[in-house]
Amino acid sequence: MADLLEKLYRNNGLDRGELIELLDMLDDDETMRNRLYRYALATRMCMYGNRVFLRGLIEFSSFCRKDCLYCGLRRSNGKAARYRMTPDDIIACCGEGYRLGFRTFVLQSGEDVWYTADRLESLIRQIKGSYPDAAITLSVGERPREEYERFFRAGADRYLLRHETASLPLYKRLHPDASFTERIRCLRDLQEIGYQVGAGFMVGLPGQTNEDLAEDLLFLQSLGPDMAGIGPFIPHSRTPLAGERGGTVEKTRTMVALTRIMLPEANIPATTALGTLQADGRELALLAGANVMMPNLTPTVHRPKYALYENKICSGDEASVCLGCLEMRIRMAGFEVDMGRGDSRRFLARQASAAGSGAQSL
Ligand code: SAH
Ligand code: SF4
Repeated sequence: MADLLEKLYRNNGLDRGELIELLDMLDDDETMRNRLYRYALATRMCMYGNRVFLRGLIEFSSFCRKDCLYCGLRRSNGKAARYRMTPDDIIACCGEGYRLGFRTFVLQSGEDVWYTADRLESLIRQIKGSYPDAAITLSVGERPREEYERFFRAGADRYLLRHETASLPLYKRLHPDASFTERIRCLRDLQEIGYQVGAGFMVGLPGQTNEDLAEDLLFLQSLGPDMAGIGPFIPHSRTPLAGERGGTVEKTRTMVALTRIMLPEANIPATTALGTLQADGRELALLAGANVMMPNLTPTVHRPKYALYENKICSGDEASVCLGCLEMRIRMAGFEVDMGRGDSRRFLARQASAAGSGAQSL
């Protein structure tokens, strides 16, 4: 039998059937998984060296109009604690992050209708006005194209919108009030507008198979995002998926590594959800191809309320403590912290070719 892992690593191309076969083999073969992690690490070193980009995460509102089955913030969760930071709170939070050295702020929330396009646009302009050399990443869900355009013109640089799962039946089951077609419309609009776009998926969703995960990898490859966020699904006790099993560290790590090999130039975070499952989960992801981490800048009073899932790590730590802890973890794992903007290579190459200046080195 041909060595499918070797083929993937050398040629960067497996068809659907081969990918599924590879995923099945990886489930059963620890030696092969370790080889995969080595290949993914080598690819990441080649693309980004041993640096880990840090982003300051601000979870600014836990209100959400959506009802995703897996999420603790879903509107049907009457027990969810809701809070909303004001634009001034958010700007102050960016200020603290900037002083700590962050040059990317990720503004994430539920789909909160209070944050109209006008309010978000003005917020983005204010942050950019104060910190022009910092990148702004939005992660506020599905919006009309015209709003995405306004945010971009106001200075937003990047947008995170995981596709969640590329399996249509699974997507439907998990999102009673949303459609995969609309999610993809958003991702395509964001790309056309010029954002650095992040897609991604959860691992270990109820009923998810290796066929579904192969679909996720192929979807990412065809979309060609600048970022890919992959985390384990963690069941939340106040959702309809409370009794389900959730994803594992090993399987998530496998998907991170495969994503690195299939999208060598993407920024791939070692997610907080992985760190929640296992103390060294994020370090394990770094050693399998991930190159980004997102310490939390949200004021500690709000942190426990932003419960997409429960027992999230770092809920009580001040931003500077979070940063110090992560810096230590990154160094212990053999990497170096990079607080710069950390644009994706794919994006820098697009910029260089648009400027007609040919290839630009990092
Ligand atoms: N509302 C926005 C952004 C916040 S949710 C959006 O949905 O795009 C950010 C991410 O959290 C989601 O994309 C989802 O992949 C993840 N998430 C939600 N609930 C989760 C759970 N129970 N376990 C793991 N990840 C979860
Ligand atoms: Fe809302 Fe995002 Fe949670 Fe879905 S995943 S319920 S959109 S916060």
